[in-house]
Amino acid sequence: MADVLNRTAREIRDEVAGGTLSAVDVCGASLDRMDAVNPALNAFNHIARDRALERAGEIDRQRASGATLGPLAGVPIALKDNMCVKGMRTTASSRILDNFIPPYDATVVARLERAGAVIVAKTNCDEFAMGSSNENSAYGAVKNPWAADRTPGGSSGGSAAAVAARCVPLSLGSDTGGSIRQPGSFCGVVGFKPTYGRVSRYGLLAFASSLDQIGPFGRTAADAALALSVLAGPDGADATTATEPVPDYLAALTGDVKGIRIGVPRAFVSEGVDADVRRTFDEALETLRAAGATLVDVELPHAKYAIPVYYLVATAEASSNLARYDGVKYGYRSPHGKDSLKALYSRTRDEGFGPEVKRRIMLGTYVLSAGYYDAFYLKAQQVRTLLRRDYEKAFQKADVVAMPTSPMPPFKLGEKTDDPLQMYLADVFTVSANLTGAPGISIPCGFAAGRLPIGLQLTGRMFDESTLFRIADAYERLTDWHTQSPVI
Ligand code: GLN
Repeated sequence: MADVLNRTAREIRDEVAGGTLSAVDVCGASLDRMDAVNPALNAFNHIARDRALERAGEIDRQRASGATLGPLAGVPIALKDNMCVKGMRTTASSRILDNFIPPYDATVVARLERAGAVIVAKTNCDEFAMGSSNENSAYGAVKNPWAADRTPGGSSGGSAAAVAARCVPLSLGSDTGGSIRQPGSFCGVVGFKPTYGRVSRYGLLAFASSLDQIGPFGRTAADAALALSVLAGPDGADATTATEPVPDYLAALTGDVKGIRIGVPRAFVSEGVDADVRRTFDEALETLRAAGATLVDVELPHAKYAIPVYYLVATAEASSNLARYDGVKYGYRSPHGKDSLKALYSRTRDEGFGPEVKRRIMLGTYVLSAGYYDAFYLKAQQVRTLLRRDYEKAFQKADVVAMPTSPMPPFKLGEKTDDPLQMYLADVFTVSANLTGAPGISIPCGFAAGRLPIGLQLTGRMFDESTLFRIADAYERLTDWHTQSPVI
């Protein structure tokens, strides 16, 4: 049964619907695989064995009764542990939510389950999705399936590792500044961040509300497209969702890139990029050019400010979003705060939050404070507008913009933990898509020395996810990077 996990989500769904594969068997294989690799990877905060087997049994019964099955029928899926599942512990990898059992489902959870997907696990991540290496988790770092001494990326490291390690064909992450694309790149899988507003965040534990998006990881662009087609669309429970019609993403997979214009911001990607990353980036562009795409030069003059702008906006919003964790209604409550309400708040937050989350709450509170608001937060918002204009201009000349996903291959665990600034700089190529709202994808495009995966990032026009899927799928037909798997 183990080889069933080498199948794509689409293959599993078709076989389950066709009756040649039982959802319970697929689910069992996924659960066994998670149990087998988790001691080495630490990718899962919670494996939902009983609930998953019960749901899978339900799918098999539906099929036996002749019911039409959904587009993800019988597909095992892992969710980043910042998405609420009713009755299932959801922690955001934070001590402050260590005992939190949500009383409701996130919209993405309801949509996945309506489509027949089977939620098998909650994945480890950086605390409240703050980080680029998964080392900020209260439950310890996730290991990269390709190299145990390396980070899987972050913050959705567990979700990326779960797909890379063949535990599940699909998983969900959240991307506020690169947290789907960068771990996708580090783990050698596809990571997709939809356009801001495309997917409901109802039931996602908020980090930075003007940046957060939920999206899928898969081994192929087609599987990511299938997942997005289930997740996308307006939601009455999230006023920020867009009413833009959702196209048929799978229909976009024509295999043809002729005439597509790929914008390359040469000046921006020329500095501080690892040699292997640069080589694989150039080779990937050449592959697409040889297949009929056109490469065009684009300028992103404000992209060099993207990191400071992101870390001002994201921390400001985080400081506000995280104010709700006070030990009163839910989550951790300090036993040492009995003297006063203030003591309850401060002891709970001091004991419940980890160091990086505290750093961000303090930085965010500072940049929003009277006297500094204009100098930092307002200025950041103004530069954000300039960055958006850079992209609008680039998209007049090009259909997509290409960059490496990360300036470096997966780095060593512990390498950047003492230097937050170095950690933040790892996000240089991913944060712009969040600041502008544009959709983005990372696709496996090669390896650095030591078989460390490298990703190619494509950013698209607002709501044009289809072109990203189309190019990624065509690239997969021309290369075999996405078919390779790590030995754990
Ligand atoms: N690495 C970025 C940060 O730490 C992005 C995180 C994310 O996308 N959730 O803020």
